[in-house]
Amino acid sequence: MAKATKISWTDSTWNPWKGCTKVSKACIGCYMDRSMSRNGENSKIVFKQESEFNRPLEEWKTGRKIFTCSMSDFFHHSADEWRNDAWEIIKKTPHHTYLILTKRPERIKDHLPDDWCKELYSHVWLGVTVEHQDTVHRIHTLGEIPCEIKWVSFEPLLGEIYLEKKELEIIQWGVIGGMSGYSTGEFKYEKTEKSWFLSLMYQLRSYNIPIFFKQLGTYYHYHEFKVADWAGEKYCKNFPSRFQIRQYPKYNYGEVEINNSKINK
Ligand code: SF4
Repeated sequence: MAKATKISWTDSTWNPWKGCTKVSKACIGCYMDRSMSRNGENSKIVFKQESEFNRPLEEWKTGRKIFTCSMSDFFHHSADEWRNDAWEIIKKTPHHTYLILTKRPERIKDHLPDDWCKELYSHVWLGVTVEHQDTVHRIHTLGEIPCEIKWVSFEPLLGEIYLEKKELEIIQWGVIGGMSGYSTGEFKYEKTEKSWFLSLMYQLRSYNIPIFFKQLGTYYHYHEFKVADWAGEKYCKNFPSRFQIRQYPKYNYGEVEINNSKINK
């Protein structure tokens, strides 16, 4: 199936609503904010996307990995009135796998469907962003939710992170990346130290947690690889081999990709 998004760890994106408000240091270079602002739109207004709302149900007949709300936060308070309808679509389409990533994990528990259980919603992977040591507590909140796959996006990684046993025992998949995007307006990309990546990878590996290394960040493409035309999340020619690791957790389709790196060249 052809990929419908440039985001390397998913097949498609679904945005039943769009717009968001910043809540975390990781929001500093928010792609949604930069892209909407470029188009003269107010990114802080969250609105329902009628044209896209039913897409997983009506248009996508074959199963795919769907990053849900790449242009918002699925648990944003402004989407409370539409979320149950989105859950209904998710429930009716178990042939898809929904990857939901939030920076508002404290809202998950009270905004799940009434019949939420691991078995009925095994095709939903819930994830939290942990960009800095200050946000490691989000993993504890995620750990309270019954869910097939609990994952963490360490992107943009903004500092060295130390995880304890109690956190490593919760995480079933780790996505890692640096700060991406071109410097525009107030946004200036920053360097992510390679030692921060390596330390995190070492910690995840020590618990056999599958790692999806997404990208090193804009800094390396400009200052190290000298790639004038950065091809997004594709590994470029000089991309260090020790970071070329793209694994997925085991999940209910029986697709096991652990230790099987999927590398886009
Ligand atoms: S939570 Fe996500 S979508 Fe919302 S402002 Fe932050 S980075 Fe952007």
